[in-house]
Amino acid sequence: MTTAETPQVRSAVQALPAYVPGRPPETRPGVTTYKLSSNENPYPPLPGVLEAAAEAAATMNRYPDMGCSALYAALAERLGVPAGHLAAGTGSVAVLYHLLQAFCETGDEVVYAWRSFEAYPIAVAVTGATSVRVPLTAGARHDLDAMAAAITERTRVVIVCSPNNPTGPAVTRTELEAFLDRVPTRVVVVLDEAYREFVRSEDVFDGVEVYRDRPNVVAMRTFAKAYGLAGFRVGYVVAPEPIAAAVRACALPFGVSSIAQAAAVASLAREDELLERVDAIVAERDRVVSALREQGWDVPDAQGNFVWLALGERTGAFAAAAEEAGVMVRPFAGEGARVSIGEPAGNDVLLGVTAAFR
Ligand SMILES: *Cc1c(COP(=O)(O)O)cnc(C)c1O
Repeated sequence: MTTAETPQVRSAVQALPAYVPGRPPETRPGVTTYKLSSNENPYPPLPGVLEAAAEAAATMNRYPDMGCSALYAALAERLGVPAGHLAAGTGSVAVLYHLLQAFCETGDEVVYAWRSFEAYPIAVAVTGATSVRVPLTAGARHDLDAMAAAITERTRVVIVCSPNNPTGPAVTRTELEAFLDRVPTRVVVVLDEAYREFVRSEDVFDGVEVYRDRPNVVAMRTFAKAYGLAGFRVGYVVAPEPIAAAVRACALPFGVSSIAQAAAVASLAREDELLERVDAIVAERDRVVSALREQGWDVPDAQGNFVWLALGERTGAFAAAAEEAGVMVRPFAGEGARVSIGEPAGNDVLLGVTAAFR
């Protein structure tokens, strides 16, 4: 064979930024380590959930229910929506990929705040569409006026991340409704509510309530955070029927495993116990935020299960100091570090690091 032409990866794919996962700690003799780098739930699975998953594992030779019927039935009942308004996938990130695939192509635009969830630029770029990133305000909040102003004829989708990962503040209901009134109804608005169970601020919106009155609004939720199923990969959208159907049409066949479906259904049945754990995490979050502020840190309003430290150029040094003490954080070079709320002992180690680093 002579020098043959090589297969050409699409230019949009060649230019994709890498998703940087939160690093796990390395085991070190004599040091207790804490993974506070991925916003995971620190609690182990509830017994009933584990048993449901184990039971589903017994039939792993069979394909899962492609229609996710038990999961859709449980969610429809829980949320008071028709099952046809649901579309699940292997994590809400996958559902977002499917939604963007359904609505965007080369030349289209997707508007979102920045800095926000690092999966957004990748998911948008895969479709060939262009990201329009609207800077956060000084308080690390969404600038919804600027986001509305950034919408053009080419805009197909707007993503609102509330609470915002990695900075923490939530969008209020009043702000959101005023914003939605300005968005043309041909533009899909995705409300990424990955951390909604942790929100305790006033005037909070409920994406499922908002979607009921608006033909272009989608509530996107996940079992990865409050429900503690990050390792099983299951998330979903609640959307008007045509949008939900388009997302389901783009989804991978048999994407959500039978184990994940069973665990998600069992988690919904044990929601009360799970939400008690969420309350404990929220109490820890508020304790950590107060302690940080007492130490002199300027922490944005924290409504998720994480806090944001705007360290700027000191971010790398801080992450290294935290790692030395046994705590893994998620650094964003030159900007800041996101630290998940973990078990109290891990949070205490973090507070020791922040006190020394001030
Ligand atoms: C963690 C997270 C998700 C959920 O991702 P999964 O794919 O469901 O694990 C979605 N959006 C944001 C902003 C997140 O931080």
